[in-house]
Amino acid sequence: MARVRLVAGNWKMHGTLAANRALLDALVAGIPGLKGVECAVCVPFPYLAQAAERLRGSALAWGAQNVSEHSEGAYTGEVSAAMLRDFGCRYAIVGHSERRQVYRESDAQVAAKFAAALSQGVTPILCVGETLEEREAGRTEEVVGRQLAAVLKDHSLSGAVLAYEPVWAIGTGRTATPEQAQAVHAFLRRKVVAETPILYGGSVKPQNAAAIFAMPDVDGGLIGGAALAAGDFLAIARAAAQKG
Ligand code: PEP
Repeated sequence: MARVRLVAGNWKMHGTLAANRALLDALVAGIPGLKGVECAVCVPFPYLAQAAERLRGSALAWGAQNVSEHSEGAYTGEVSAAMLRDFGCRYAIVGHSERRQVYRESDAQVAAKFAAALSQGVTPILCVGETLEEREAGRTEEVVGRQLAAVLKDHSLSGAVLAYEPVWAIGTGRTATPEQAQAVHAFLRRKVVAETPILYGGSVKPQNAAAIFAMPDVDGGLIGGAALAAGDFLAIARAAAQKG
């Protein structure tokens, strides 16, 4: 069975109503020419309503960058998966390295967020990745294997998306080589069901996207900085669409 090919933008904490309007409209105008690749933008929570309004009926899906592991209650500042579903979110990123590092999210907490999203029909994009120190110590497979195992304990990855995001490549301008990405993707591939798309994330740009996406176990990308410029995001999506 052919796996879905996906290019998803992670806007992180960027945007204004006016800037988003221009970006979303440019993306909507450019997406129809793309065949064989799904595209999505994961926007900050306050802009979900704007994304839903401008993207409904278009070929561009939208999602969130985080979700609470709790279903409702006294969790000030949190956003539940049911709320994401209310706003038409197709996706929720869980376990992004910035959440794991800055907000100290544990593997178990990420697994609970994964389950919460799935339970509401929101597709989790589960991020795993090693730090530079871990890579240099030869611990890449141990680390990404541990992060994935926390979720696999209770769930297959059926209905989900996996993203390999080496921490040392995120926002640094330093990308994994296509071969480095493929080696980790092949390792992850053996642990998940055949249908699971595995995205690569970490300084993907129009200049390097095609070579990374050409790897057999890379099914698309999770795009940070380059997702904020419509021309760059569309060029990256085009590179995924052209994968043979
Ligand atoms: C990300 O934040 O998920 C990411 C991959 O960022 P960048 O593309 O900017 O490295």
